[in-house]
Amino acid sequence: MKILVTGGSGYIGSVTTELLCNDGHEVVVFDNLERGHLAAVDPRARLIVGDLRDPHGIRDAMRAVGPDAVVHFAAYALVGESMQDPMLYFSNNLGGGLHLLDAMLHAGVRKIIFSSTCATYGQPATMPMTEAMPQRPTNPYGESKLMFETALRWAQERHGLQPVFLRYFNAAGATAKHGEDHDPETHLIPNVLKVALGQAPAVPVYGDDYDTPDGTCIRDYVHIVDLARAHILALGKDVAGPFNLGTGTGFSVKQVVATCRAATGHPIPVALSPRRPGDPACLVAGAARAREILGWNPQYADLPTIVRHAWNWHRAHPRGYGGK
Ligand code: UDP
Repeated sequence: MKILVTGGSGYIGSVTTELLCNDGHEVVVFDNLERGHLAAVDPRARLIVGDLRDPHGIRDAMRAVGPDAVVHFAAYALVGESMQDPMLYFSNNLGGGLHLLDAMLHAGVRKIIFSSTCATYGQPATMPMTEAMPQRPTNPYGESKLMFETALRWAQERHGLQPVFLRYFNAAGATAKHGEDHDPETHLIPNVLKVALGQAPAVPVYGDDYDTPDGTCIRDYVHIVDLARAHILALGKDVAGPFNLGTGTGFSVKQVVATCRAATGHPIPVALSPRRPGDPACLVAGAARAREILGWNPQYADLPTIVRHAWNWHRAHPRGYGGK
């Protein structure tokens, strides 16, 4: 297939592009390179540098490429930043998304795999979370993703679009080639591993008074390769609608730090810090739908393996993509 990947220079987009190329698909990456890395774009893919906030660039690219399907990653993805600057998130994640949707409808492209998030649910009362649970985001990041899901749903209803919403839980891990490199880095596992690399004195723990067994937030960490595989499965099947992608097992911040201590042999000091606004206490996936309908079967569903792969990549790329 010929696939247009928006955001192919980012963390999840780069790994998905790598796997699509491995499978022999023709991939065109559309990316503004603002938060991603040129070096993260698989050299087998063609790169078009453009920003989704410009409606003309994506319309021209869509017409010129004529893809069989779109995989849409390009977005801002930080809960904390979205609480500071909500409009940034609505203009890019919703506004940019609408330009992409408009370009698809004009070019007659029907299939889109959309990079959505468990943050669209907010904090459900019970775990694990299923796709049927109400979506009440607690931050503008989740809200902006939900708004674009809604636009895609109406385009499905009225224009015959075939949208798949992959609601990721916490992407983690790495391949040999591609890993997590944000500036500034806000995600837990890379921040913990930075301490093990001697690049930070201690990792902040954002709150230990949540209503969880050890007081720190619980997340469902899912390997980036398993996430990427779900996109490829969704591309190959005649499916639409939402799919949660997580392992079904949650780990607290303290448990993640302990796993990283074991993987690295470093004591990794922690610094107790205030809660981060917008953070739900506990997010754990019920991914039965992805397993049953997509045939998704996470290969690296244990946290020590995920952390080991991330550690291998960070050790090999101590300055991220900038250092290699
Ligand atoms: N977190 C933390 N210290 C950090 C980074 C994150 O305590 O340096 C916590 C954060 O408050 C959340 C969890 O770790 O409860 C996962 O955060 P992350 O930013 O990795 O992913 P999110 O769940 O926000 O998408």
